[in-house]
Amino acid sequence: MQLYQEQILKITNSLSGKKEIFRPINEGHVGMYVCGPTVYSNVHLGNCRTFMSFDMIFRYLRHLGYKVRYVRNITDAGHLVDDADEGEDKIAKKARLEKIEPMEVVQRYTVDFHYILDQFNFLPPSIEPTATGHIIEQLEIIKEILEKGYAYEVNGSVYFDVKKFNKDYDYGKLSGRKLEDMIASTRELAAQSEKKNPQDFALWKKAEPQHIMRWPSPWGDGFPGWHLECTAMSTKYLGETFDIHGGGMDLKFPHHECEIAQAEASNGHSPVNYWLHANMLTMNGQKMAKSTGNNILPGEIFSGDNKVLSKPFSPSVVRFFMMQAHYTSILDLSNDALLASEKGFYRLMDAIDNLKDLKTNKLSDFNVSEWRQKCYDAMNDDFNTPILIAHLFEAVKHINLIKEDKEKITTTDKELLQQTMNDFVFEVLGLEQKTERNQDSNKLQGVVELLIQLRNEARSNKDFATSDKIRDQLAALGIQLKDGKEGTTFSVS
Ligand SMILES: [Zn+2]
Repeated sequence: MQLYQEQILKITNSLSGKKEIFRPINEGHVGMYVCGPTVYSNVHLGNCRTFMSFDMIFRYLRHLGYKVRYVRNITDAGHLVDDADEGEDKIAKKARLEKIEPMEVVQRYTVDFHYILDQFNFLPPSIEPTATGHIIEQLEIIKEILEKGYAYEVNGSVYFDVKKFNKDYDYGKLSGRKLEDMIASTRELAAQSEKKNPQDFALWKKAEPQHIMRWPSPWGDGFPGWHLECTAMSTKYLGETFDIHGGGMDLKFPHHECEIAQAEASNGHSPVNYWLHANMLTMNGQKMAKSTGNNILPGEIFSGDNKVLSKPFSPSVVRFFMMQAHYTSILDLSNDALLASEKGFYRLMDAIDNLKDLKTNKLSDFNVSEWRQKCYDAMNDDFNTPILIAHLFEAVKHINLIKEDKEKITTTDKELLQQTMNDFVFEVLGLEQKTERNQDSNKLQGVVELLIQLRNEARSNKDFATSDKIRDQLAALGIQLKDGKEGTTFSVS
């Protein structure tokens, strides 16, 4: 008997807006597709949160005993700077600015993406296909959509006919929009536009002579539209209808809406049974954006090298911080929130350490099986990790009381508690107990704080030779001191 047969999982489906009991198409198997990154820059922390939410979901489904085929793509062509099918290809633009080949851009940022995800202890997906590796499949879908009459060709480009599609199907059902409202609120098409309607989107774009990323097609040299790759790769690896499709909330419209339209127009089937959308990460109450400077890269958190942080934080602490919010809620990152998470993380890890050495008794004061089911109930309720973590801390409380001889536990209960803690903390939440590294980083922090204190004393005694020496020698070791209004902080490079 597999766990999924006794644990009833419910998922909030963006398509219905309701919590639904999860029933996969083939018993015991789950097909899951998640829109991956466009690899033209370093992965930012908000994207990491989205992918981490689906890593946790992948982990829980596997824990329940499902055989999961998890497909997460790499977008290495076709994603234009402007969502309205205009402007340069994001990767080609970066290649032009850095004077390197587009495929060098792709390689560089794919390596960065994997490196960061690895530090966060992500499980690799089952298949990680690329858009450029599936041009033939994309051309086949375009031909089918043209044949069915839901697309038209203009000057070497092919556009999806949204109005025509909406007559037979429902365009906007995922994002809750009506095509009539969209038409009413959009401006007239620019005179030079090739589209019949502004809502139409490109399936294939003609490549101008200077466009490097180009492939031959029945309509001349060009490149695929961004929405098409996900339809091609999800259909190829998961079938015309599969169980779960995930992505960031910002992809619901137009990207996912267009994916549905393409699939329905080409094969007549609704492609996905459960649509899941992860919410965004803000910082200090504001949207994260490179342009405003309210932005942080994962590497800057691990090294502490960002002005909003007082110190470095380990990947597991950041992961724990992210798991403390439900994946559909907005999560706000701040130095204080990370400090609080770090405290909680170490409390949890200490309790797991102490659990091994607990003395056992003939009786238990802690009903472990009832508590274990509460952990499952939390995860079965749309992957509610914050409630799960609250239950884990209930166990921490009992572990500490048993350690102080204020409560008792039987051998069987202790084993069940150990097993359950390991299952949820390491396997499902994906946290890592790197004790040595944690202790080392705690020691380093203590030593640097001591040196900061000595430097402050030297400075107040006007002994600048000593204070400068401390700063410079730390800098030579790769530890930068930063003097700010709230005192001195440090980062490790
Ligand atoms: Zn996609």
